[in-house]
Amino acid sequence: MKAYRSMVLVSSDSESIARGAEEVFQTLQSEITSFGLENEISLSMVGDIGRHDAVPLVIVYPEAVVYGPVHKDQVHHLVEEHLYKGRIAADLQAPVKELSGKIAWLTTRKGTLPAEQRIVLERAGVIDPDSIEDYIIHDGYQALARVITEMTPEDVFSTLEKSGLRGRGGAGFPTGTKWRFVKKAPGTKKYVICNADESEPGTFKDRLILEGDPHSIIEALIIAGYAVGADEGYLYIRGEYNLAQERVKKAIAQAREMGFLGERIFGTDFNFDLHVHIGAGAYICGEETALIESIEGKRGEPRARPPYPTTNGLWGKPTLVNNVETLANVPPILRNGADWYRSFGPATSPGTKVYTILGNVNVTGLIEVPMGITLREVIAIYGKGMKAGKHFKLAQTGGSSGSIVPASLQDTPMDFDSFAKAGVALGSGALLICDEDTCVVDLAKVLLNFFRKESCGKCNPCRIGNQRAYEILTNISEGTGKMQDLDDLMLLSDNLYQLSNCGLGQTAGAPIRDILTHFRAEVEAHIRLKVCPTGICPMSGKRI
Ligand code: SF4
Repeated sequence: MKAYRSMVLVSSDSESIARGAEEVFQTLQSEITSFGLENEISLSMVGDIGRHDAVPLVIVYPEAVVYGPVHKDQVHHLVEEHLYKGRIAADLQAPVKELSGKIAWLTTRKGTLPAEQRIVLERAGVIDPDSIEDYIIHDGYQALARVITEMTPEDVFSTLEKSGLRGRGGAGFPTGTKWRFVKKAPGTKKYVICNADESEPGTFKDRLILEGDPHSIIEALIIAGYAVGADEGYLYIRGEYNLAQERVKKAIAQAREMGFLGERIFGTDFNFDLHVHIGAGAYICGEETALIESIEGKRGEPRARPPYPTTNGLWGKPTLVNNVETLANVPPILRNGADWYRSFGPATSPGTKVYTILGNVNVTGLIEVPMGITLREVIAIYGKGMKAGKHFKLAQTGGSSGSIVPASLQDTPMDFDSFAKAGVALGSGALLICDEDTCVVDLAKVLLNFFRKESCGKCNPCRIGNQRAYEILTNISEGTGKMQDLDDLMLLSDNLYQLSNCGLGQTAGAPIRDILTHFRAEVEAHIRLKVCPTGICPMSGKRI
């Protein structure tokens, strides 16, 4: 491999591209050539690097200097100063001087910030996602080679079980056990599916895994196919994720060309191929049985369960459905072993979790940290504190179907069991951090508005219950609520949970339950005093 003096990386997640990353990349290419540096400097587009408020970013190694946001008109100066004269272009670095200390995985490499640990995003922001060679150089397809040539399906299941990997879609079901169920299900035709229909508001981690490291998911799906006995798989990608779709399709073509997909993979009898299915924009298709219906060409409505997809999935055949983040953990575990994986996070929820940080913090973005970090740590270390010195009031975790977590729980370790014990849910990994100016009635109203619109309408408790809950919350927010409404809301929340057919309806009442458990006085103030304490709700002119 050719040795270069410096390596220049340009962030190329969808947000960077929307803000001119491709123009910056092209200008860098021509400037590097015009300074005669093309044999000394390597230049690559890479995936997301975790910060979105200063993109597009340009990172120069080995110094790990981060510039951003970089405009194409600034590129000549950057190349002349840093790459030609060897001086840091401080004026371009200035807006992100602090950022360079905040991109945790970069500073982790330099040993200055211990907390972020990248496993699933290990290559995102490092390799060129359009290059299978780059993936292979960075340990890509090593796990697949090992699995297919040295391991039995039983070895794969027991390694995953020993690793303690649990599904990252929200439910936290043990991954190895799920894979074993599909293997055991009778039938010779089986399928594996990657659920990349990431639609929870505020969640974009799966998109950035696919955009930054598409081959990792393809490798995981091939391993899954080998282990459960499937010869066909699907990647169901959210319709709005254009760049992820493009990169995945390109990666599949490259994998086919290299012989990782197709017939007689690694010279064995194992055949496997992948299809991409693009979603049409329905939130409910993130539910695995609705997703399966959608692939079958039907309306995306969840099925009644049981039977579960592990025995009766796509076209009635046993089917493994895992989400992107779960699958992205598989190759590193099989490459490094279960004990290695267990060295991250707590014993009952090992490994890492990818979080998107949004809301009233100074720094928003994406992090991957060991399971068990607390909200207080996320806000202080990665969010760099609350905006404008305000107080932390609550976090809405996991998109709409997660929980409203009050400040009193900010020291609870964020792992499946600790959160469940505290009565809240981790969900998909979105952390919407809210300050003291957030009204809980308004927040619950926004969430119920989402659910009433996204309900597929198949069952009454969800179709009617969400609408009714939204109407009651609207009355409360407009100063026309009654105390009886609170009992009605709790009953609705309970009925939604008990009687709805799928996860959408079952979790839709969570915001109601959470605000009445943790913020009842604030809700009651809307009814008894006709006052919204934060001044957000339109209380017929009674704002304070
Ligand atoms: Fe559809 Fe809601 Fe019933 Fe789920 S709970 S099947 S989304 S109506």
